[in-house]
Amino acid sequence: MTTAFATEAVDGDARTGTLTTAHGPVRTPAFMPVGTHATVKALHPDEVLATGVDILLCNAYHLALRPGIDLIERAGGLHAFMGWDHPILTDSGGYQLVSLAEVATVDDDGAIFVSPYDGSRLRVTPEDAVGYQARLGADVLMCLDHPVAYGTAAEIAREATERTHRWAERCRAAHPGDGWLLFGIAQGGFDAVARRESARFVSGLDFDGVAIGGLAVGEPVETMLAMTEASVAELAADRARYFMGLGTDSELLAAIALGLDMFDCVVPTRLARNGTALTPGGRLSLRNAAAREDLGPIDPGCPCVACTGFTRAYLRHLFQSGEILAHRLVSLHNITHLARLMDGARSAIRDGRFAEFRAERDGRLLATPR
Ligand SMILES: [Zn+2]
Repeated sequence: MTTAFATEAVDGDARTGTLTTAHGPVRTPAFMPVGTHATVKALHPDEVLATGVDILLCNAYHLALRPGIDLIERAGGLHAFMGWDHPILTDSGGYQLVSLAEVATVDDDGAIFVSPYDGSRLRVTPEDAVGYQARLGADVLMCLDHPVAYGTAAEIAREATERTHRWAERCRAAHPGDGWLLFGIAQGGFDAVARRESARFVSGLDFDGVAIGGLAVGEPVETMLAMTEASVAELAADRARYFMGLGTDSELLAAIALGLDMFDCVVPTRLARNGTALTPGGRLSLRNAAAREDLGPIDPGCPCVACTGFTRAYLRHLFQSGEILAHRLVSLHNITHLARLMDGARSAIRDGRFAEFRAERDGRLLATPR
């Protein structure tokens, strides 16, 4: 049986491979920039591609509310609508269930969301969630799941995980067929046994990949890694593994070491708009006075347009002046930074030196004074 994911090399539990989609291959480990509203904020799609990423994440729930699935379908699908002819993964809206402000009710049939735009209500069943994403023409569709916030009582978390499993079965039955990949989502709250059981259940439904959901939501890093390790132990080796929402260098490398393949995070672009650049030595605030007369680049080793063309002093000046070019340049840099981290991880895994690569990167973070 052929699967969409092929492993090319393993090093310990870390692995590098390729996820084959209808719009091309995704090299893993892969970082996916987030384009919630069918755009990576402020960036042209060609610029996003030039950072070295293979795939974007868009949010089908937000797009269903605005501008609506019908319009995007008439425009030729999400790829044509947003001018990105490369792989796209869509979020189902499950993550929004954590944010009570946007949810009216959740029951076994599905959820009723309240639009943050106009207060209108949208009922989404597991079948609807898969159907919306398929109509958008996304390459990788995500199941509707029911994550819970950190600190949720164990009993509530258990109910949400059981509901996630029932919804996963219904989403699996609604798989639109060839041309679309459908990923299940394992939950389990913050209990290692529940995490293991959920991963085993969802993995058993024969999805094209499985995501670990409901983590990196404020729990201690040790808890997050323990839950990840428990989950990964039950996931099939021949399917892609996606950690939903992870964006710091050391956490990404820790997850790759456990055998994760795909990641997304809004943080790199959100930080960029706030004037914070990611560097191998950690976060650099371009708004700080230290950057005022610094005529060096953000990262001398980075090939991006921000680092090859502009100084820290200039970027700080742009932020101080409220110029939007600052947002564009630092967003491009931050995405490039994570794309290069993934590239470095892939090479290191192929060469059998991932542990050294990780230790070197973590060492640079620790060695940099804050
Ligand atoms: Zn750069």
